[in-house]
Parts: sequence; C-alpha cells; structure tokens
Amino acid sequence: MSVARTVLLKVSDNQWLRENGTRVPFIRRAVTKFMPGEHFDDMLVAAKATAADGIGAVFTRLGENVKDLGEADGVARHYLDGIDRIRDLKLVCEPSIKLTQLGLDIDRELAYGHLRALAARAHAAGSYLWIDMEQSPYVDVTLGLTRRLREEFPRIGVCLQAYLLRTREDLEDVTSRGIGVRLVKGAYNEPPAVAFPKKSDVDANYFALAQVMLGAAARAAGARAVFGTHDLRLIQSIRAHADSTGVKPAEYEFHMLYGIQKGAQLRLAQSGAQVRVLIAYGEYWFPWYMRRLAERPANVWFVAKSLFG
Ligand SMILES: Cc1cc2nc3c(=O)[nH]c(=O)nc-3n(C[C@H](O)[C@H](O)[C@H](O)COP(=O)(O)OP(=O)(O)OC[C@H]3O[C@@H](n4cnc5c(N)ncnc54)[C@H](O)[C@@H]3O)c2cc1C
Repeated sequence: MSVARTVLLKVSDNQWLRENGTRVPFIRRAVTKFMPGEHFDDMLVAAKATAADGIGAVFTRLGENVKDLGEADGVARHYLDGIDRIRDLKLVCEPSIKLTQLGLDIDRELAYGHLRALAARAHAAGSYLWIDMEQSPYVDVTLGLTRRLREEFPRIGVCLQAYLLRTREDLEDVTSRGIGVRLVKGAYNEPPAVAFPKKSDVDANYFALAQVMLGAAARAAGARAVFGTHDLRLIQSIRAHADSTGVKPAEYEFHMLYGIQKGAQLRLAQSGAQVRVLIAYGEYWFPWYMRRLAERPANVWFVAKSLFG
C-alpha cells in the first residue's frame, strides 16, 4: 500500500476532520468532481442524465457510524421517501446503504429493523436493495444480517471486498443463497492479517472471484453478479472470460462511481454491457471523499488546484 494512500485513509478516520473538513471552501469545491450535490434532488438530476445515456443508477446518501438513535431514524426515513419518489418517477435507481448509518454501532436489532423496513419498501416498489461493506470488523455482522434479510426478501445484494483474505469463502456462501454480490477491491485501511497488502494480489483475487461469480453454481442460484470497478483491464478480462464461457452480457453488470471514468462508462454501455453509476450525495462526505482521494492520490492535485479557485 502506498504511503499517500495510508495517510489519506488515516485522515478519513480523524473525528475532528470528519466534523469540520466539509466547511473548508476549497475542499468543498473539489468534491463536486465526485458528487452532484448534497441533496436528494441533486442526485435525481444526475440519475436522469445517466438514464438518458442508457446507464442506470444506484443511490447512496453519505453517512457512517451514526451515534444517535434519532439520526438513524432520520436516515431510514430519508431512504424510505427516496424509494417512493424513485418509484413514482419510474427511474432505474436502486438504494445502497451502510449498516452503521442505520445505527449498527448503537444497537444491532435497531439497525436490522431499519434495514428490514427498507427491504420491504424496496420490494414493494419492485426495486433491489444493496448493502455496502465497511471495515473488516463489520463483515460478520453485515453478512449475518444480509442472510437473515434474504430469508424474507429475494432482491437483496451485498458488497464483498477482494482485498480480504476471507472473501472467497464468503462469496461462495452468499451466492449459494441467491444473494447478489457487488464485488469491489476494498476502500479501507486493513492490516495484513486480514487483507492482501499488495495491489497486484488484490487484482488477481478480484479476477479469481469474478470467475466464481460467473460460474455455473452462482448463476444457478440466481445471484446477481455486479463488478464495482473502474479498472478497465480487469473489466476487459472479465468480459473476455464471460464470452469464452458462454455467459451473456445481460447476465452481469459493471457499476462505477459518479465522476470517475465517465467516458469508459459510456463506451461500455454502447458496446452492449450493462452499466450503472453509483451516485453519492449528502452533507457528511468527508471520510468518503478521503477514500476517493486515497484510491488515486493524483486526485490530491485537483484539490490543490481548487485552492486557487
Ligand atoms: C459501485 C461501487 C461501489 C463501491 N462500494 C464499496 C463498498 O461498499 N465498500 C468498499 O470498501 N468499497 C466500495 N467501493 C470502492 C472500491 O472498494 C475501490 O476502492 C474503488 O472502486 C477503486 O478501485 P478500482 O476497482 O476502481 O480499481 P483501482 O485499481 O483502484 O483503479 C483502477 C483505475 O480506475 C481509476 N480510479 C479508481 N479510483 C479512482 C478515483 N477515486 N478517482 C479517479 N480515478 C479513479 C484510475 O484510473 C485507476 O487507475 C465501491 C466502488 C464502486 C465502483
């Protein structure tokens, strides 16, 4: 892991900066590259624009590690309203949530209650519900609650991280239950005891896991296969593997983040791939933005440039 990545990920965990970093004008200007705005309506404008390009959307309101019951209730209400509004607009746009945003750090059953309410509302609206994956200590509880939810609701998916050593086993278990998987490389600062320290090993594991997702067992179980990556070489390898094993482009998807590889998103969609963009919005963007900078430390130059207007 590069020094710049480690530093940026440590900054993302700093409590004072989490509370105050969003007030710094030049950082506020720079974040607009990755986020259409702070409000649900800003996200809707972006989702309608991507829909016009034949690209669906996933939406997420930024926030994590909520410490207050009232705030967790507010987050759940926000998503419930959002699911209804999207259903009324007939937009292709699915919610993706973090369990710590629903109060997981305060009370696991309370968070599950919110999660269940969101799954029920998404189900009624004909939508899918995505569950993000956070730092490694949350993996067991996130997968446990996802499995429990799947017993009631069929259209549920969870994010799995290729940098974790345990993910192959998790992936086989999750897909065998027909739970959808959004495979990503992983965005947090994890120790070598749980995660591959070398990027080349993460990339190799990603491709190996992708092959499991496109394999006969996962497909027979009806598990939705989503590759959440901007790595164009990896995308090409996944498509080539799918072609050579007879898996059709309609059977898997690529999801990317708003503001990253826009040209590639369009080219992929035009070439027949199923593509979605994950659009994040909200006021609590500091730690999330630091993780985006850590993914490509060259992005820090954009922040520096915005210091001068
Ligand atoms: C749809 C989606 C959902 C995600 N959900 C989660 C989640 O729930 N939990 C989690 O831990 N992580 C999540 N992530 C983040 C993920 O773990 C990676 O940190 C992130 O996607 C960067 O890895 P990469 O696969 O794009 O590959 P990389 O090898 O990091 O990047 C490949 C290329 O993509 C471009 N690129 C990548 N990131 C950036 C960036 N920030 N700015 C500019 N260019 C960039 C660069 O050109 C880079 O060379 C998600 C990512 C996506 C796309």
